[in-house]
Amino acid sequence: MLPLVPHYIAGEWLRSPQLPTTSVFNPSTGDVIAQCPVGGAAEINAAVAAAHAAFPAWSETPAVERARVFFRYRQIIEHNYDTLCATVSREHGKTLSEARGDVHRGIENIEYACGVPTLLFGDTLENLARGVDCETLNQPLGVCVGITPFNFPAMVPLWMFPLALACGNTFVFKPSEKVPLTAVLLGELLEKAGLPKGVFNIVHGGREAVDTLLTHPKVRAISFVGSTPVARYIYETGTRHGKRVQANGGAKNYLVIMPDADIGKTVEALATAAFGCAGERCMAGSTALTVGTAAERLLPDLITAARAIKIGRTDQPAPAAQPDMGPVITAAHRDRVLSLVASGEQEGANVIADGRNLRVADAPRGFYVGATIVDGVRANMTLAREEVFGPVLNVMRMDDLDAAIAQANASAFGNGAAIFTASGRAAREFKHRVKAGMVGINVGVPATMAMFPFTGWDDSFYGDLHIQGKEAVQFYTQQKVITTRWFGGEVGDVWKK
Ligand code: NAD
Repeated sequence: MLPLVPHYIAGEWLRSPQLPTTSVFNPSTGDVIAQCPVGGAAEINAAVAAAHAAFPAWSETPAVERARVFFRYRQIIEHNYDTLCATVSREHGKTLSEARGDVHRGIENIEYACGVPTLLFGDTLENLARGVDCETLNQPLGVCVGITPFNFPAMVPLWMFPLALACGNTFVFKPSEKVPLTAVLLGELLEKAGLPKGVFNIVHGGREAVDTLLTHPKVRAISFVGSTPVARYIYETGTRHGKRVQANGGAKNYLVIMPDADIGKTVEALATAAFGCAGERCMAGSTALTVGTAAERLLPDLITAARAIKIGRTDQPAPAAQPDMGPVITAAHRDRVLSLVASGEQEGANVIADGRNLRVADAPRGFYVGATIVDGVRANMTLAREEVFGPVLNVMRMDDLDAAIAQANASAFGNGAAIFTASGRAAREFKHRVKAGMVGINVGVPATMAMFPFTGWDDSFYGDLHIQGKEAVQFYTQQKVITTRWFGGEVGDVWKK
């Protein structure tokens, strides 16, 4: 019997055997390891009711006390670090070292939330007019929602609920059905940190569950991370129903390599950016724009680096057994990645490092794609336009920096972009003109850390206030401005003017 993943509603772990389920895989082997229930309106309504009921007491809990829950949560996660990382690896397929990165970035977001008493400070202005003072308060909203993707099972949820809760909101979390085991573990550890019942809830589900959240009258704000078509849908539907929405979408990130770049360090950075996490990250460097002679200097070493990447199963924790790269999330996703590479080839591009037809001897049913480099990609090809979300690096050859910036700026997405150069002038030009929210200079994956906003632009983000940093504090609070004037009030001799 496969384990059935529980919901967490009003402080109870609930299994719903009557609900349909989807399979949770170990992508390393292709085995099914659990069944995830497809919750619907009934489960969502129960979770939102629990969160709504818990809101008055939780929002009145002083910010320092709320912060203490997250100091404890951080410590409990540290104590359970290995179990959490192994769970991420097992259901997602990341290597253990990548899973540690996933959990570690998440911990930094908990640490940020621990600072909530100062993050919630308001402003004051004395003597706005004579004898009139003004102050702002930052108050919680109510029930907030998080809907998350498969690719960072720990970090992305931890972008959302620690800060939302620390700000005094209550929360309903709808994790990706592909990685629900990490979500459940995060919830179990949060329960141990002493969070009152109903403040945090987890419901698994698909379209019906999401639609119920987007339209529920008691939901105030929705944080979403996932693909662009769903992000757009979430934003449009949520805002139409009067919710605050921040919706992070997909990406296609360009890496410009100038002829003067340090080739050794650039090859290292490109290999990590393109093939790290098997390319399944929204900040993956998916297209190298080589300028002038950069391609001739770069590609031989880059091909060697790609071919040297050891691919294998990530579910065996012994360090010696860990590969450099694991599988992608599902068989269907592997087939999509392979078909996008094939489309590039059919449209005239050259596969110069070929990760197709990869066999992992001890896991023949795992979902593997090897590191792949496709040269001669042109702007009109499907491979150039679509997010691949796999270990595939496109190479597009550019005559000059202007052409490279124009190519990067023609993208519908605007998540990340990077330049590799020794020239301050080229770097300055690039950072000023490139249309992307997160820019790297000799940094391949300029993903922001907890204290900075995760600033996607264009089709990589719908909303006004981004996830992480001060913008997220604003997203999870509403401002109240108080204007005060006092009349009379005799205080006798103790106060003489
Ligand atoms: P996805 O859009 O398929 O799923 C994300 C979430 O939405 C899941 O919880 C899923 O159950 C739900 N969902 C899926 N289809 C839905 C529908 N039709 N209606 C309502 N809900 C639906 O994304 P994914 O495949 O899990 O994740 C990969 C995508 O996420 C990539 O495009 C990647 O770039 C993006 N991503 C973006 C960021 C960012 O910060 N911009 C970060 C991580 C991942």
